[in-house]
Amino acid sequence: MSATPSEQKKHPEVVYLDNNATTRIAPEVFEAMVPFLTEHYGNPSSAYRFGKFVEGHLKEAREKVAALLGCSPKEIIFTSCGTESDNMAIWSALQTSAKRHVVTTQVEHSAIMNQTDYLERMGFGVTRLPVQPDGTLTAADVEKAIRDDTGVVSIMWANNETGVLFPVEEIAAICKSKGVLFHTDAVQTPGKLDLSGVAKSDIDLLSISGHKLHAPKGVGVLYARKRTKLIPYVIGGGQERGKRGGTENVASIIGLGRAAELAIERLSDEQTRVRAMRDLFEETLLQRLPHLFINGKRDQRLPNTSNIAFDFVEAEAILMRLDRKGICASSGSACTTGSLDPSHVLSAMGMTPARARSCVRFSFSHYTRESDVDYALEIIPPMIEELRAMSPLNPEHTDNFAYDVTAAREKEEKMMASTMASINE
Ligand code: PLP
Repeated sequence: MSATPSEQKKHPEVVYLDNNATTRIAPEVFEAMVPFLTEHYGNPSSAYRFGKFVEGHLKEAREKVAALLGCSPKEIIFTSCGTESDNMAIWSALQTSAKRHVVTTQVEHSAIMNQTDYLERMGFGVTRLPVQPDGTLTAADVEKAIRDDTGVVSIMWANNETGVLFPVEEIAAICKSKGVLFHTDAVQTPGKLDLSGVAKSDIDLLSISGHKLHAPKGVGVLYARKRTKLIPYVIGGGQERGKRGGTENVASIIGLGRAAELAIERLSDEQTRVRAMRDLFEETLLQRLPHLFINGKRDQRLPNTSNIAFDFVEAEAILMRLDRKGICASSGSACTTGSLDPSHVLSAMGMTPARARSCVRFSFSHYTRESDVDYALEIIPPMIEELRAMSPLNPEHTDNFAYDVTAAREKEEKMMASTMASINE
């Protein structure tokens, strides 16, 4: 899907509807970071004032992130990304316990999925819980999976593909009653959900990533409740009170602190204006197009996420056309060397591969304008109608012959390959 430089020049205006993939850096965040990329370059571990000044600002950033979670700054460990926070949480939990079983779900981000696959290869037991067709999971499902040898339960708070929320506080309470550590990948939640009750809940470990809340890429947080034993995952100097080695990514941490403040200030905008925009987007598409399904339980989702099945059309074809119109969205499927795998999240919800391949995720943010949504709504319905009109997956095109799904898919893949080739030319 790589656009040539001349194509990129034609689309200086981007309508960015992929905020679960990453977010733009807030101008206030950038402004807060600049002095730490220029004049204040001291090492926060240095003993002289030039370093101590930076250390002071690092402390302030830690306090701001702690305020987001309603916790003590001592419970915040800065990492390099959400993936590192996830990996560290599970690794540490298993290192501090003689138990060798993990409970997780089939719909986690690859940061957890691939780590638990690895643990399984290393001889650990892993239970991956399925979800309901609406993407939900109950605390009772988790309780049943906990065994005597369970060392950690890791369940995401909000799904990155569908936005579906899991009852993590309830699950954490169950884990506490059974003496099992509970970790949640909360990477998709800051600024979208109120996290100020985290420290009062029974959650032991929680992951955040800077680039999902208008801070830069390459910075993350692991919240570790007081008295939770932690084994460093990155071993080195005594930074982060000995919990995570490596000189701090100062400017990004300062940016993350400012982003945490903005996330608190803007929570109501996300929960009202952004939610209303997302709901209007879905309602309008449902009115204008048949054979369209909104994935995930309607009232148990992040306010900014919309995952939509456009039956009889390949998501990759939709995304390529949206890209040409300057609209960024994504599919849950991995687009690797021409083979299209359906999303593991949508598959776990019991969706057929054909429908899963038709799903597109749109995700909004504080910076999404009403005009962006209007533009997308102008483009999408005729685009889907046009794609359906030529789609071999459309059962209306069987000319009264039996519908051969395999042949139709082969035809569709050939069509996709030639479209991709023409785009890459
Ligand atoms: N967990 C979830 C739910 C995510 O959506 C992501 C990023 O897409 C991650 C973890 C990984 O975060 P990072 O990109 O900071 O490693």
